[in-house]
Amino acid sequence: MDFSYTPEQEKFRREVRRFLEKTSLEVFGPSIEAHATCSENLIFGDDEHHWQMMLEYHRRLLEAGYLALHWPKEWGGAGAGPVEQAIYRDEVMRLGLPPFGANHLAIDRIGPTLMLYGADWQKKRFIPKMLTAEEIWCQGYSEPNAGSDLAGLQTRAVLDGDHFVINGQKVWTSLAHRAHFQVLLVRTDPSAPKHKGISYLLVDMKTPGITVKPLVKITGHAGFNEVFYDNVVVPRENLVGELNKGWEVSVAMLMFQRMSAGTRQPIERILNQLIELSKEVEFGGVPAHRHPYVRQTLIRFASDAQCVSLARYRALSAHLKGKPPGPESSFGKLFASELNLRMTMFAAEMLGAYAAIENDRPNRANRDLWVRRLLNAREYTIAGGTSEIQHNIIGERVLHLPKG
Ligand SMILES: Cc1cc2nc3c(=O)[nH]c(=O)nc-3n(C[C@H](O)[C@H](O)[C@H](O)COP(=O)(O)OP(=O)(O)OC[C@H]3O[C@@H](n4cnc5c(N)ncnc54)[C@H](O)[C@@H]3O)c2cc1C
Repeated sequence: MDFSYTPEQEKFRREVRRFLEKTSLEVFGPSIEAHATCSENLIFGDDEHHWQMMLEYHRRLLEAGYLALHWPKEWGGAGAGPVEQAIYRDEVMRLGLPPFGANHLAIDRIGPTLMLYGADWQKKRFIPKMLTAEEIWCQGYSEPNAGSDLAGLQTRAVLDGDHFVINGQKVWTSLAHRAHFQVLLVRTDPSAPKHKGISYLLVDMKTPGITVKPLVKITGHAGFNEVFYDNVVVPRENLVGELNKGWEVSVAMLMFQRMSAGTRQPIERILNQLIELSKEVEFGGVPAHRHPYVRQTLIRFASDAQCVSLARYRALSAHLKGKPPGPESSFGKLFASELNLRMTMFAAEMLGAYAAIENDRPNRANRDLWVRRLLNAREYTIAGGTSEIQHNIIGERVLHLPKG
């Protein structure tokens, strides 16, 4: 197997690296972690200063042509091939930067889904302003009783002439507090089998009857929201695809989401920072990096990080052969998010009692960052499909085990 890149691809990498290093320094300063545990907290959090930085970063990515590499040129993307996209992702993760600017959900998956299933007027009306971040989008899928079992959703939309009337509740909706629009999954035929009576709508978040309530995470910051719908009127023309066939549209969007999910954690960056930490703290009465247990654990993490990277190459190779994203995207998501969790837990083990203290002064060995990371790490094993669900997918579709 040949993992080397062509000279043109290496040139592309150098250009991307130069651009990202310069822009990141100008917008975020020497380290993005000085502002937030990870880039996603800058986007999904509630800090206004962080958000303004993200908008500026978004503008620069757009101007340089890196914002939507995976979008076709027709819609303002770069129309880049999978290898260029992978190189860009590698470079973004090296610096721990957000890949899709401020309008993360729109650029990653909502825009591409609309390109596939949207009516012409919907594409023309909505896609250009996704790109410029003039209109921010959120994703209303999960409900209090429908997360892993998404098809069990109960938010109801009743068709009444030329509009739908919506009642119900969504939960864990990232970015709803900033969003101008939402893609919303609703039940339009309660008598049909559960996957068949669902429709996919585009909803203006300013519509009367919508209430957004922030949910505070264990970190103390609001990161996502509950959204309530009380007789919300949405024009029928905002339906994407056919009535009662929204499940197909939502699955396409989840596929786009899973394709990028395995690359959410900058694993190599976190590993390198963990190695640095081991040089700064003591463990068992000796400098941690000299302790055999610490050394062996770090080596295991390094091998696991290599597996994440190889899984990414495997997915890329399948993509280059024209195969649709398969269970390898579940493997990437599962392994990267669990490795991230194990690494942050090990940082806490090295820090000992200090891991329980935030805002500790003097903040030696960047302890605050690791404490915040520890509080954050578990969410990646839940968002976008829990680890247990990824295990189920791998068990059934890769190992062909009988359903549990
Ligand atoms: C940071 C974050 C951001 C999010 N952003 C959004 C968003 O923007 N929009 C949105 O719609 N949703 C969002 N979500 C919600 C996310 O998609 C759900 O949390 C996830 O799908 C799990 O659903 P649930 O929370 O209802 O848990 P449940 O489905 O109730 O699961 C509870 C537990 O049971 C386990 N379980 C459930 N079913 C099975 C099974 N069949 N086999 C084995 N174990 C099972 C799960 O693994 C989990 O441990 C976000 C979540 C997080 C953490």
